[in-house]
Amino acid sequence: MLVVTKFGGSSLSCATQFAKVKKIVEADAKRKIVVVSALGKRDTSDTKITDLLYILHAHLKYGVPYEDIWEMISSRFLKIKSELNLSYDIKSDLNSLEKELNKSIPEDYLVSRGEYLTAKLMSDYLGYTFVDAKDLISFHYDGKIDYALTEKKVRLAFSEYGIMVVPGFYGAYPNGSVKLLSRGGSDVTGSILAKCLNVSLYENWTDVPGILAADPRIIENPKAIKEITYEELRELSYMGANVLHEETVFPVQSLNIPINLKNTNDPEHPGTLIKNVCDDKVDLVTGLAGKKSFVSFNISKNHMSNEVGFLRKALTIFEKYQVSVEHIPSGIDTFSVVVPYSEIEKSQYEIITELKNTLEAEVSLDDDIALLAIVGRNMAGKKGLCGLIFQTLGEEKVNVKLLAQGPSELNIIIGVSQKDYEIALKSLYQKLLA
Ligand code: ASP
Repeated sequence: MLVVTKFGGSSLSCATQFAKVKKIVEADAKRKIVVVSALGKRDTSDTKITDLLYILHAHLKYGVPYEDIWEMISSRFLKIKSELNLSYDIKSDLNSLEKELNKSIPEDYLVSRGEYLTAKLMSDYLGYTFVDAKDLISFHYDGKIDYALTEKKVRLAFSEYGIMVVPGFYGAYPNGSVKLLSRGGSDVTGSILAKCLNVSLYENWTDVPGILAADPRIIENPKAIKEITYEELRELSYMGANVLHEETVFPVQSLNIPINLKNTNDPEHPGTLIKNVCDDKVDLVTGLAGKKSFVSFNISKNHMSNEVGFLRKALTIFEKYQVSVEHIPSGIDTFSVVVPYSEIEKSQYEIITELKNTLEAEVSLDDDIALLAIVGRNMAGKKGLCGLIFQTLGEEKVNVKLLAQGPSELNIIIGVSQKDYEIALKSLYQKLLA
């Protein structure tokens, strides 16, 4: 049994956090592959090393004095080395990097040094072998991961070293130059390693008690979800729940490797388990999420329902303007096309004119829509849930503008006016989850 264990930046912000990580890793011999982000914030006013490195790069590029930022970066690494009494000669690595600082240093390379140096400190501290991500995570030149090559390299490294620390967030092109994943990408590194070694569990350690059942900025102390399926997580993340990097699930999902989201500051807490099938039937609703700033093109025409190809003609226009369509609620001689405002910001008038001319229909735009998703694997086939939702919203005098439910009954999407979004979310949370 093998576990890939990934720690986020807040779990690595200072020597005290490093000590917690060591305790966690040593508590279970299966934790043989450790992936780290770069040093994160020590408190809310602090800056992540990755952000400092991006700023450093901008200063170098535009020829602005950069010495203070470099000092902030290097002193954070040096402090951890000295506080933990490590033998790793980070000073000489920092000195060589300092010599490389110039106008044309590649951004990806410079920014990746955050994870690189953090991993080196951690490997010394844990007594695990440091294995550079650029020698494992391999990209094709089109930016996609070369899984065949990556798997070969990961398996070889693991058979050679047995226990290893790998920096997250980057890999390399075939010519060896460093390429970053997108922001928050250390989650994905962990997931790729978990897939390549077909491990029994991928642990992802952060500073929250797991995936929360609703947005904590709106709901005070929402509960953490105990178990959630990959599909539910996808629905919640898509609708705005901010948890793991959204590409984390894909590598492990096909092999059905569970992800356990855990809190470094409270390791005994079970956190959230993400897997293919969850057997517990306790909660009807798993979580709520939502987003503001949607618009609805409302299209109506007498006897539209008899006109074959009407919908296709309408959707072709959205396709022409490269707008990705979210929902299409329909009536008999009317339907609406719901899209994020950001998608039509520049083309809304052209789209309306084209819809009117091509379809000879009435077209109006409702630009005040917030969407709310009620997600739950146990909702399918359950009677009365929609009744409860409408009753709850009705009691709060919230008007439902649109409603959509996919065939899997995994989620119910409700559209409300943006001013009603918070109250709708709060009342539904109280009724369905509290
Ligand atoms: N350090 C990188 C970031 O801040 C990657 C990560 O933490 O996953 O985005």
